[in-house]
Amino acid sequence: MNNQTELQIIGIMNTVKDLGAASAVLGWDQETYMPDGAGEARAEQIATLDTLAHQHLTSDISKKLAADVRGMNGEATSLLKLFVKDHDRAAKLPEELVRETSKAQSLAQEAWKRAKGEKNFSIFAPHLQKLIDLKIQAAELYGYEKDRYDALLDLFEPGMTVAQLDPVFKELADGTRDLLKRIEPNLKNADNSILSAGFDKEKQIEFSRFIAEKLGYDFNHGRLDLTAHPFCTTFAITDVRITTRVFENDLRSCLFGVIHETGHALYEQGIDKKYARTFAADGTSMGIHESQSLFWENMVARTEEFWTWALPHLRARFPEQLRDMTPRAFFKAINTIQPSFIRVEADEVTYNMHIILRYHLERDLINGRLKVEDVPKVWAETMQEFLGITPENDAVGSLQDVHWSFGGFGYFPSYTLGKLYAAMIWNQLEKEMPDVREQISKGEFLNIRVWLRENIHQYGRTQEPIEIIKRVTGRTLTARDFLEYVNTKATNVYEL
Ligand code: ZN
Repeated sequence: MNNQTELQIIGIMNTVKDLGAASAVLGWDQETYMPDGAGEARAEQIATLDTLAHQHLTSDISKKLAADVRGMNGEATSLLKLFVKDHDRAAKLPEELVRETSKAQSLAQEAWKRAKGEKNFSIFAPHLQKLIDLKIQAAELYGYEKDRYDALLDLFEPGMTVAQLDPVFKELADGTRDLLKRIEPNLKNADNSILSAGFDKEKQIEFSRFIAEKLGYDFNHGRLDLTAHPFCTTFAITDVRITTRVFENDLRSCLFGVIHETGHALYEQGIDKKYARTFAADGTSMGIHESQSLFWENMVARTEEFWTWALPHLRARFPEQLRDMTPRAFFKAINTIQPSFIRVEADEVTYNMHIILRYHLERDLINGRLKVEDVPKVWAETMQEFLGITPENDAVGSLQDVHWSFGGFGYFPSYTLGKLYAAMIWNQLEKEMPDVREQISKGEFLNIRVWLRENIHQYGRTQEPIEIIKRVTGRTLTARDFLEYVNTKATNVYEL
C-alpha cells in the first residue's frame, strides 16, 4: 500500500458516489416533478447509472486495490476498509442481476402508485413477486449464517440478525400490549380534535419551514418539496433535500413529517466534510439514521417544553383555531395513542406494531413461507391480532408503503430500531445535559445539535451502529428505555 493506491481508491469512490448522486437526483425528480408518462425512460436512465457505478466498484482495478488493502492486515484506515466492504458486497452480485433489479424497481414503483390509486393489490403483485425473486437471488449470493433474511437486514443495519431482533421485538410487542391495556379506560383524558380544525396548507408549509430552520436545517444546502410519501435524499453533504405532504384536516402530517425528515437531514449535513464524495459520507445504518429523525420528532418536538416555545409561533399563523390552546393541551393532542391503519401517521406506541407486522411478512416472504397473493389476507389478520382493526382496502393495508416497490426488504425493522436507539440516546443526553428540557422550552437547539454532531453525525459510516451505541450510551440494544419513555409519556398524557 502506498499513497498512489490510496489516491486511486479515493478516485474510484468519488466516481461511484457521483454516479450514485446523479441517480438520486433522477429518483428525487421522479417523486417530485417528473411527468407521469416518463416512468419507463426514467427507469432506463437510473438503471444505466446504477450499472456504471457497479462496474467501477467491481472492475479489475478495484479488485486489485481491495486485495492491496486486505494485505495491510487490519492496518488500513476505516475509509479504506469501507471501500473493501462495499467492493466485496458489490462483487458478489453479477452485473446482469444489478441491472435487472434496478429496472424492476423503477417499474414496480410506477405499478405501486397505480395499484395504490386504484386500491388494487393485484396490479402490484407480479412486480412484488419479481422483486422478491431477485432479492432471494441476492441474499443467496451475499450469504448468511442462519436466516436468509439476515443477508438483507445486514444491508440496512450492519450486524443485525433475526436471532437478535426476535427477542427484542417480542419484549416490545408485549410491553406495547400492556401499555395499550393501561390506557384503554382513560382514553377520554386526551383529545386531538383540534388538529383537524382546518389549517391552510400554505401556512402549514411555511410554519414547517420555520421550525426546520430553527432546528438547524440549512436551506442554503437543501430544499423542501411535496411528494406522496415524505423522504430525505442526499446528493452531497452540501445538498440534502427533504419532502413532505400536507393535509388541511391534519395539522400533524406536514409538520411532523418535516421535523422527521429534518432529523435525517441534520445527520447528513453534519457529516465531516473531509468525507465528501467517499463511502463514509452517509449514515452508518438506517437504524441510526432513523434514531436521528425520531429524536427530533419525538424526544424534542413532541414534548410540552417544545410547545411552550413553539405554540405562540403556531398561534400567530392560526389565531382563530388555536385561540384557547395551551402548551399542555397541545402536548396532549399531539401525543394521543390510537390504533390506526397508516404506519406513517401512527403514534409512537402503536407504530412499532406496524413494523413488527411488516417484519414478520418480509421474513416469511423471503424465506418462501408466505405467498405474495396471500399478503393482503395475512396483513389484515395480523392487524386485527395486533391492534384490533382490519383495513377496508389495500391502499390503507399492504399498499400503503413505498418500500417494497423499491425492493427495500430488510428496511422496515430500522424504524423500530431507530425508536429504541433514540430512547437510549435521549437518556444519555439528559444525563450529560441536565437542563436540556429548559433549553427546548426556550427554543434553543444548538447545544443538542452540536452534541449529536460530535457524538454521532460527524463520523458518517466510519463507525458501525453497534460501536456508536456502545460508545455513546455504554450499553447494547434494549427495548427497555423506549418502553419506560412511552409509559412515562402515556401516564402524563392520559393522567393514568
Ligand atoms: Zn425516517
